[in-house]
Amino acid sequence: MRLSKSFIPTLKELPSDAVIPSHILMLRTGMVRMLSAGIYSFLPLGYKVIKKIADIIREEMDAIGGQEFHLPALNPKEIWEETNRVEAFGDTMFHVKNRDYVLAPTHEEIMAFHAKGVLKSYKDLPQIWYQIQTKFRNEPRPRSGVIRGRQFLMKDSYSFDSTWENLDKSYELHDQAYRKIFDRCGLKYFVVGASSGAMGGSKSEEFMVRSEAGEDTVAFCESCGYAANVEVAASVIASITRHGNSKSVYEIHTPDVKSIDELCEFLKIDQRETAKSRIYIHNEKPVLVLMSGNDDVNETKLAKVLPGNLRPGHPDELKTITGADAGSIGPLEFKHRIIADLRLQDGNNLYSGANKNDYHVGGIDLQRDLPNVEYFDLRTVESGEGCPQCNSKLEVFKAIELGHIFKLGTKYSDALGVNFLDEKGEAHPVIMGSYGIGVERVAACYLEQNHDEYGIIWQKPLNPFDIHLIALNLKNVEMEKAGDDLYENLQSEGFEVLYDDRKDATAGFKFNDADLLGMPVQIILGEKNYKNGKIELKNRRTGEKQIVEFNKIIETIKKIL
Ligand code: ATP
Ligand code: MG
Repeated sequence: MRLSKSFIPTLKELPSDAVIPSHILMLRTGMVRMLSAGIYSFLPLGYKVIKKIADIIREEMDAIGGQEFHLPALNPKEIWEETNRVEAFGDTMFHVKNRDYVLAPTHEEIMAFHAKGVLKSYKDLPQIWYQIQTKFRNEPRPRSGVIRGRQFLMKDSYSFDSTWENLDKSYELHDQAYRKIFDRCGLKYFVVGASSGAMGGSKSEEFMVRSEAGEDTVAFCESCGYAANVEVAASVIASITRHGNSKSVYEIHTPDVKSIDELCEFLKIDQRETAKSRIYIHNEKPVLVLMSGNDDVNETKLAKVLPGNLRPGHPDELKTITGADAGSIGPLEFKHRIIADLRLQDGNNLYSGANKNDYHVGGIDLQRDLPNVEYFDLRTVESGEGCPQCNSKLEVFKAIELGHIFKLGTKYSDALGVNFLDEKGEAHPVIMGSYGIGVERVAACYLEQNHDEYGIIWQKPLNPFDIHLIALNLKNVEMEKAGDDLYENLQSEGFEVLYDDRKDATAGFKFNDADLLGMPVQIILGEKNYKNGKIELKNRRTGEKQIVEFNKIIETIKKIL
């Protein structure tokens, strides 16, 4: 492709509304343009990448026996009402005015609709049906460019099985296919599992990529691959050790001391010598949650321990419940249930609030003074703590979900009446799985992981072009001919070439564009080298430059690629 004739509108300046690298780079390289919040147009260069990702996905889906569909995005609302998902999606679902239609945010219902009455016998199963199609979700906070759009491309597939064991197989096939897809795309990813045993073998796993732009926070172990959302992640961490012999409890006057930091400063002690109290209201009753001074309550874990109605106590009800305001609450003499973090189990000589404003107490021995306290894992894992599987160091960071595999079970076949007959002629609901990949997210995550200060670093197979050919001194007819000939030759060798044949652009301008656009190989055709039968090649990833004889071009390119 000749740059002089192509539409690749690069930008020199940083776009003001973009913060993360992939968003900035997609805008600067002219891969995408925003139409409206969360709605992006893919321009030719960007769409080339999307098509390459889609091809890889198609190959791997076909390899596990997937059959490609193309379902309508405009759906009758009625079918979504049958599964109660108009309500479940709420404001996230786009509705079409004046008609009873919605824009599909996913396609479980529609695939189930096509399966109904067609997958009639166990002999018709299993099936894997997939598509690569546009989804619509009215995301409340579209951001990070195409990573969270209101319209986006998803590869979604659905498996239909006659037994739970066969569902396991379809799920396993997808797991393997997803690993191949993301490996082939050159992504560094990890898998976070979630198992909710209650739903008849339901299981799901998320394929994630580390990124500051992520909206999930995960704990990850490099050594064994343990990965879990911090909301549920566990860790191995030293418990609070006993400090000498237990003193008896004593009261300390602590005027104006309201926080753990102030208490530690006032008493010249470490946070780990303190136990801090939070009041929650659980099913209308107060519960005191006791944590080590340097830990915070993880409310997801707390909700599991205290199922039902749970909320933090309001500042104005604390005094009635405890006798003190927030800064002076403590477990001694507390009249209601107390639960504490596991780490505190052996704690002694602890400092805590006295349930009297401006007073704290010291010398608390939890086993001796508060034998009825119940202990649970209530804290959020932090970087550096031990992995619960192998005890290596965990790292906590933000991540983006690339893909999701999920054992659905019979939720949709029950709701929509998708049944099959088994060997004995008995009817059962078809057992389904659903599996998604965000196609634009694959492209964005690739950019998050493959760029430097100058621009994108493409590598095969997602690279839009193999070679960026920069021809200089083009006002000289001889050089123009040399450039055109080389362009033709490289293409006939089977390379995809982006040819900077612009006559009025300076060399510096062309070099910057080439680094920004980031094709794996740059070839610089300049007058001086050309006269000596030589040409310059640059490896975009390493920055390494070499000047080679004309007849060595092809083998050098192949080496870099
Ligand atoms: P998220 O938690 O990021 O909102 P999700 O759980 O809603 O994702 P799924 O419904 O499982 O996502 O969709 C499958 C895949 O589609 C996701 O793994 C993700 O890659 C992609 N995806 C989901 N929502 C969006 C979006 N708003 N923009 C771009 N891609 C998306
Ligand atoms: Mg979502």
